[in-house]
Amino acid sequence: MKNIQMVDLIGQYEKIKEGIDEAILNVVKSSQYINGPEVKEFQSELEDYLEVNHVIPCANGTDALQIAMMALGLQPGDEVITANFTYVATVEVIGLLNLTPVLVEVNPTTFNIDPESLEKAITPRTKAIVPVHLYGQCANMEEVMNIAAKHNLFVIEDTAQAIGAEYKFDDGSVKKAGTIGHVGTTSFFPSKNLGCYGDGGAIFTNDLELGKKIKMIANHGQSTQYYHDEIGVNSRLDSIQAAVLRKKLPHLDSYIANRNKAAEYYDKAFENVSWLTIPYRDPKSTHVFHQYTLKTKGINRDELRSYLSKKGIPAMVYYPLPLHKQKAYQDSRYDKVDFTNTEALNASVISLPMHTELTEEELLYITETVKEFK
Ligand SMILES: *Cc1c(COP(=O)(O)O)cnc(C)c1O
Repeated sequence: MKNIQMVDLIGQYEKIKEGIDEAILNVVKSSQYINGPEVKEFQSELEDYLEVNHVIPCANGTDALQIAMMALGLQPGDEVITANFTYVATVEVIGLLNLTPVLVEVNPTTFNIDPESLEKAITPRTKAIVPVHLYGQCANMEEVMNIAAKHNLFVIEDTAQAIGAEYKFDDGSVKKAGTIGHVGTTSFFPSKNLGCYGDGGAIFTNDLELGKKIKMIANHGQSTQYYHDEIGVNSRLDSIQAAVLRKKLPHLDSYIANRNKAAEYYDKAFENVSWLTIPYRDPKSTHVFHQYTLKTKGINRDELRSYLSKKGIPAMVYYPLPLHKQKAYQDSRYDKVDFTNTEALNASVISLPMHTELTEEELLYITETVKEFK
């Protein structure tokens, strides 16, 4: 058996190598490295895939969040609510724009923002909510959208881990993650479900005016060449990355299917293991399994991780420390907030290898080894 990896990008590349190599070489030969035709083509193909009116490619998923917040006109002092249990990028851009991050508790079963805690955190200064579809399954968007409508708030979906996931509302309508709120953002970081070979990101919206503003801000606040209406940023997806993404997008659904197959294998192996809880499946959302994350109980999670490492199985902890305890984001405002659920997850979660190339032999070895821990 070859080395087991958390994410196998080489194995995935080898299967589509010819097309990818040719696409990259074509960009090199064209010399249209910035804003070349590949970027425009990818943008329109992603619009079709997501069934959204406007996709604006940008340099990475963190920029995507920042540009979305700038385009919505959020001002210093405005409060933006997000989940305490997420990657730091979400809260980082809130701070960077001098907005006030308001971290709230997550649901211990779904790992996603808890609607009740969200609603309780709303004040007259609240302007936006950033639900994160953690690990690849949508947050409770039915409740998030209802709360946002009731309090007149913007919703920015952080879809960095969930591109391709679908959410079904009670009225039967189905929408792709990132196209439900006012604006959605994603990342094409190599290990994400739709990853390029460097940095990349995108912003989605169905709103024409907002789409124009996002495009303008991502391009130095420029309305027409050398005329700058607002302070913007320089955030571009480069043509080589767009060419790679164009080759990979047609495979995204089969990549998601492969991930689900691996997740089902894990589920079956672990469903009756008393010290593990398999990931919850929300009947309203599909799961794209960016991560396969178990909750442990009654064992030492870090010992399990080092035991697995000795057996040649990588495992990760996303995320070990809640944001309100990170040096950069500590604030006395959180002293009286109850983060029991988030902290319990920080202490108990463990993510196993999850990618598109996992073989049955590897899955058998991983699951048997995990079960032998106790
Ligand atoms: C990866 C990630 C980001 C940031 O994406 P980059 O492209 O690395 O900037 C933002 N939010 C979440 C939830 C992520 O997982």
